[in-house]
Amino acid sequence: MKVLVAVKRVIDYNVKPRVKMDGTGVDLTNVKMSMNPFDEIAVEEAIRLKEKGVATEIVVVSIGPAKAQETLRTALAMGADRAVHVTTDEEVEPLGVAKLLAKIADEEQPQLIILGKQAIDDDNNATGQMLAALLGWPQGTFASKLDPSDGEVSVTREVDGGLETDKLKLPAVITTDLRLNEPRYASLPNIMKAKSKPLATKTPDELGVDISRRLETLKVTEPPKRQAGDKVGSVDELVGKLKALGVVA
Ligand code: AMP
Repeated sequence: MKVLVAVKRVIDYNVKPRVKMDGTGVDLTNVKMSMNPFDEIAVEEAIRLKEKGVATEIVVVSIGPAKAQETLRTALAMGADRAVHVTTDEEVEPLGVAKLLAKIADEEQPQLIILGKQAIDDDNNATGQMLAALLGWPQGTFASKLDPSDGEVSVTREVDGGLETDKLKLPAVITTDLRLNEPRYASLPNIMKAKSKPLATKTPDELGVDISRRLETLKVTEPPKRQAGDKVGSVDELVGKLKALGVVA
């Protein structure tokens, strides 16, 4: 079965984002960018399905500027077979991304599409759900275990207060949660090999998708600074202060 995986290039999770002086967004000048961590988990899961003989081909897709190709090459170095880059310098909203992925799904006819549960830059947690709705496919979000067999996939989902296991008919859309797997690092030989794996480019126009924005960002601000704490000299002093605050009786 063919597996499509969506990977987004985002600000690296170790970087502390800086808000632009004019409050219009996050300053990305000279900032380290990486594959969205949940998408690394999505790529890893697809590779594990291929290693088990369940998946036959892994196609990775990224929507974004020219540098998104670096992210696609990372996914190819991890073990994906082929990449599709939808080129745009615009910031595309989840609905636009979902429409583009739906068009690619029409062309590629995968049995499974795996996305991250959310991109850590905008924290939308929306694209997988919108994609499933556009395609009319079942969705298994926040997956911590996947088990495809005979036209179905069993998905264990991380829900409030526990785990829920669902069976979905294929084709289906899955979004990954943190505990699904631990992604591998690409080895140097595989990084070299990835340079010659196929990478196709397309534009939103070629796919017939209007990606114009429907949301307007009014203002971006830094989180409020944390107040400095008090140092206490002893446990008794700590308990006294907590009592004075009414935290303990
Ligand atoms: P979001 O709904 O924006 O939080 O993103 C959820 C998931 O959708 C991400 O983890 C990716 O798998 C996918 N996705 C979002 N934006 C893009 C993009 N520009 N290119 C490829 N995949 C994307």
